[in-house]
Amino acid sequence: MTSQAETVTVRVPGKINLGLSVGPLREDGYHELSTIYHAVSLYDTVTVQPADDWSVHVTGPWGDRVPADASNLALVAARTLARRRARRAKVDPVRIDIDKNIPVAGGMAGGSADAAAALVGCRELWALDHIENDMLEGIAAGLGSDVPFLLHGGTAIGTGRGEQVTSVLARGELHWVLWAGEDLSLSTPEVYAEWDRLREEAGTVPGTPEPSGELMAALRRMDTDAVADALHNDLQDAAISLQPVLSEALAAGLDLGARGALVSGSGPTVAFLVGSQTEAIDLSVGLAANGPHGDIVRATGPVPGAQVVHHRNSPEPYRALPTPHRPGPPGPVTG
Ligand code: ATP
Repeated sequence: MTSQAETVTVRVPGKINLGLSVGPLREDGYHELSTIYHAVSLYDTVTVQPADDWSVHVTGPWGDRVPADASNLALVAARTLARRRARRAKVDPVRIDIDKNIPVAGGMAGGSADAAAALVGCRELWALDHIENDMLEGIAAGLGSDVPFLLHGGTAIGTGRGEQVTSVLARGELHWVLWAGEDLSLSTPEVYAEWDRLREEAGTVPGTPEPSGELMAALRRMDTDAVADALHNDLQDAAISLQPVLSEALAAGLDLGARGALVSGSGPTVAFLVGSQTEAIDLSVGLAANGPHGDIVRATGPVPGAQVVHHRNSPEPYRALPTPHRPGPPGPVTG
């Protein structure tokens, strides 16, 4: 029988998109896209434990921006997995605790990350060992376009609406500085609508989206400057059109020595590529002093997707676990 003190803790990264090509609007309302996802060492920690009823509790730097109700994507994911299992065996409700470090509505797929973590955590807690990765990925794809990648991690191509994930050969490590503007958020549907509007205004018709060969070759060699030159996001102009401060942030980072820069996904988080940890420290200090106001975090990539980092089954009462990892020293700097 399951002890009330049993807890499973999962660490899950945020993502940036090294390349994002948007294609035509599909009949189901999604745009066809081709993206290169890259998981970075900025983590949410999600802990699940058996409880009398379903609930979610969110703490951490971005905790107050996340709904702590039935709409929370981690809770939606846990209940979806439970429903799938209810056909065979009843599972207990869970309490979910999220330590939220990934910027919310920032283009880093933080909600999808928490959903992926809840799937991995509940599979472990409910001992659903027989649930194959394929089935978990199927459930993940139904929850959101980015959820399968957050199970997968690393660097990967996303096609379809982003939910079809294939690994990319990328050896070595990239160093990043991430800037998340204070009180800045962008809704993904609004950014796509703005992209549609800009395309119509310009009279251009989107072609079939494809991953950039230049970017793939640069990743295979893990040549930082070549990766920097090949970074590309079709949604960047739309995000800047809605939040003009983003162009100020991009210019500030490049002036301060970033090798490359782009808005992550639908924004508004901006990712700066640098050549080393020392360059990352220099850039984050420079941005904090001279860039637009925002949270600045150093990170590396690629890192694995959602992973169980702790499984405790003891009669001790539950105590929240500390976040097992914060991105490289000395942690977030507020500018
Ligand atoms: P994407 O890059 O996938 O478009 P995003 O990073 O821009 O996503 P999220 O941080 O995933 O955006 O949040 C989108 C919205 O989802 C938020 O405004 C929030 O209200 C809602 N949400 C629900 N559950 C969560 C969660 N666990 N964490 C973050 N946001 C959540």
